Amino acid sequence: MSDVSAGFREVYGTDPEGVWAAPGRVNLIGEHTDYNDGFVMPLALPHTCLAAASPRTDGVLRVHSGDAPGGVVELRVQELTPVAEGGAGGDRGGWAAYPAGVVWALREEGLLSGAAAGGADLHYASTVPTGAGLSSSAALEVVTATALSELYGLGLTPERVAQLCQRAENQFVGVPCGIMDQMASACCTEGHALFLDARDLTQRQVPFDLAAEGLRLLVVDTRVKHELGDGAYANRRAACESAARALGVPALREVEFATLDATLTTLAGLGVDDTVRRRVRHVVTENQRVREVIELLDAGDTRSIGPVLTAGHASCRDDFEISCAELDLVVESGCAAGALGARMTGGGFGGSAIVLVEEADADAVAKAVTESFAAAGHGAPRIFPAVPSEGARRL
Ligand code: ADP
Ligand code: MG
Repeated sequence: MSDVSAGFREVYGTDPEGVWAAPGRVNLIGEHTDYNDGFVMPLALPHTCLAAASPRTDGVLRVHSGDAPGGVVELRVQELTPVAEGGAGGDRGGWAAYPAGVVWALREEGLLSGAAAGGADLHYASTVPTGAGLSSSAALEVVTATALSELYGLGLTPERVAQLCQRAENQFVGVPCGIMDQMASACCTEGHALFLDARDLTQRQVPFDLAAEGLRLLVVDTRVKHELGDGAYANRRAACESAARALGVPALREVEFATLDATLTTLAGLGVDDTVRRRVRHVVTENQRVREVIELLDAGDTRSIGPVLTAGHASCRDDFEISCAELDLVVESGCAAGALGARMTGGGFGGSAIVLVEEADADAVAKAVTESFAAAGHGAPRIFPAVPSEGARRL
């Protein structure tokens, strides 16, 4: 905290009015279900994006990140325009588009009037790995909205913060993400996973104290990000939406697991191709896996979620086709070394996987995964335990 305050002083020459934090996340189960109005179950990481911030009165927004090159980006609040529209102030899609998008979303929703229209100075320092599927972008957005809500006296709830941040990422930055990442960063609590119904944002904090049970959840950051990821995300989303349209439902969430086979037959009859039918099967079975994980955790049977996680990985790999060699290798080598279960987490095509292990086996499993990467000629992964942590807050 003192570091980010010192950073602010160095950049802007004054003390910040406050410092805020918002975490990255890992998703325990429920992948690519949020934009289908389905279920997800993320937990916040101890890794956070910190923002030191002060309000301004002249309509200027200045942002600076200790983690990005290029110095201070200076924009005018009233001139912010989405990146896709040529973005006055979109910084041509550079990192500043994320915080600028948050301010734009506040403005679009009529929340910036009077003093709040005056702008702000922000300086960021983050420990969330970027592009690792751990939601550094959501942490950056959520810390911005949380800080500005307080600086401007807007009193936004965490849910509202998440919705504004998703709007910023969708419409200003141009990434068609669901709402999971922003909700996780805004709403998670220490020692819990967040069971979220993305249709209406109903949520429940589910106790997830792995240490008390002698378990550990390892995050394996493969450190790869395959190029095709961005377009593929939009492609998967479009496939899901086209299947929902063919079925005459608002979203694939409405397809019941019990009637999945009949639904797939219906889709085939409508001429929907095999690829799209597999996308549907992933979403419907994945929602069911979230329900199974919840039931097991509620019953105190945490070890039994392992095979459900591994089944989720197979579905991501085979039906949704969003995995890659490195992620498959984490799951394969982790499970072969005695893990209880493992899966890719996040959007896919690189990024991170999670591995559930007995605490006593954690080091051996991590070593086996690292060795398998070396043997396959991949760079060394970064492995650390996922400790369920607190959501966005003022420090
Ligand atoms: P993820 O959210 O999985 O980390 P994304 O591609 O969605 O990956 O977001 C990563 C982008 O977010 C970075 O390329 C950068 O533009 C921006 N970003 C995240 N954290 C920071 C930070 N601390 N400073 C500057 N930009 C950041
Ligand atoms: Mg992101």
